Amino acid sequence: MEWNDTPEQSAFRTQVSALLDEKLPDRYRDRKGDWQNDRVSEDPQVRETAEGWVNALAAKGWVAPHWPEEYGGAGLSSIEQFIFNQEMAKANAPRTGGRGVALLGPALIVHGTEEQKQEHLPKVLSGEIAWAQGYSEPGAGSDLASLQTRAVRDGDEYVINGQKIWTSEVHTADWLFALVRTDPDAPKHRGISFLMMDVKSPGISIRPLVDMTDEHWFNETFFEDVRVPAANVVGDENRGWYVGMTLLDFERSNISGAVTQRRAINELIEYANTDGMQISRLAERPTLCTEIADLYIETDVMFNFSFRIMTMQNAGQIPNYEASVSKMFASELLQRAAKTSAKVIGLYANISNADDDRAPMDARYARNYVHSMCESIRGGTSEVQRNIIATRGLGLPRG
Ligand SMILES: Cc1cc2nc3c(=O)[nH]c(=O)nc-3n(C[C@H](O)[C@H](O)[C@H](O)COP(=O)(O)OP(=O)(O)OC[C@H]3O[C@@H](n4cnc5c(N)ncnc54)[C@H](O)[C@@H]3O)c2cc1C
Repeated sequence: MEWNDTPEQSAFRTQVSALLDEKLPDRYRDRKGDWQNDRVSEDPQVRETAEGWVNALAAKGWVAPHWPEEYGGAGLSSIEQFIFNQEMAKANAPRTGGRGVALLGPALIVHGTEEQKQEHLPKVLSGEIAWAQGYSEPGAGSDLASLQTRAVRDGDEYVINGQKIWTSEVHTADWLFALVRTDPDAPKHRGISFLMMDVKSPGISIRPLVDMTDEHWFNETFFEDVRVPAANVVGDENRGWYVGMTLLDFERSNISGAVTQRRAINELIEYANTDGMQISRLAERPTLCTEIADLYIETDVMFNFSFRIMTMQNAGQIPNYEASVSKMFASELLQRAAKTSAKVIGLYANISNADDDRAPMDARYARNYVHSMCESIRGGTSEVQRNIIATRGLGLPRG
């Protein structure tokens, strides 16, 4: 495999980095802001920054680089998307549009009616509407098809009752797409519909779940006699499972994760080599140095998994268990890296306040340590990924 860019790819890379040089706000370059929060910030300047950034990407069609051009995307090839994601990650540039771009848009493009596409896709691209994902419930996570939130047809509407959990960022979102049960008597995968609803609909209430990072990201979302127009079903009633699984996330190669991990390991090595106190601590702990060497190698392995997924996509193949290998390896590597980094930094790794002068590298590693814990749960747990690799990948019997 040839990893070097062709002249065309190199020209495209230059275009992307030129836009980043010119338009990426310092707030994002310096990792000081989160785009989805910024767009609803109380500070008008922060809101303006978020808007300016989405407009800069939109002018190139790069809010949704993987969507077809007819829907406002850039219709990039897998390799171009890979290059785009690589350059964005290198510059710390946030992607905009969140779940609307990554999840809802692709599902609507494949399964939505023309009216639904016309109504929702432009608002995703302009950053006007942010979406949240209502799939998980207290009794339905890995076994998602057990979900119980009920939707009963009443004339031109559905009436929704039930509860979702772990609904990330629904408190800063405008609309929610959810899987709901429309036929409780059908086999469990067949009685589910995919429904879009305005988060401000009467009967929806949101309760924050503050996690161990002390951040408000998750929520519980409750539905009490919420009325949603029947026209908001995507695809056919009771066939929502298949719509919900059209998660054509444009980042299946996870190149952003690989670039970020490479930068993190390089920063850690630089810190270990330049801080006098660390140099003498590390000299006394050679096993810690070999741990860093292991991480360095594993980071390269992660990169190569990303290349493999991208190569498959570019050849028109759909990564299956290969995506599980990549996801599982990456999430567990991030956790190992966080632990080793904490050992290198020592007691100062307990400081999570970025403004505390004693915290090395703006306390990034302290925050990574707790954040990395969720990596092996979100988007399918490591246990579930191992099941997929064992059965679909290796042909071993199901337990
Ligand atoms: C950061 C983050 C963001 C999230 N955002 C959202 C969101 O926006 N919207 C949303 O709907 N959900 C969201 N989730 C929820 C996520 O999809 C679920 O947490 C995940 O699917 C696991 O489900 P669960 O938490 O119910 O755990 P369970 O499925 O109850 O699993 C509990 C444990 O049992 C293990 N287990 C389960 N089944 C098997 C099996 N067959 N074989 C072996 N082990 C098994 C699991 O690996 C796990 O260790 C988010 C989660 C995280 C961490």
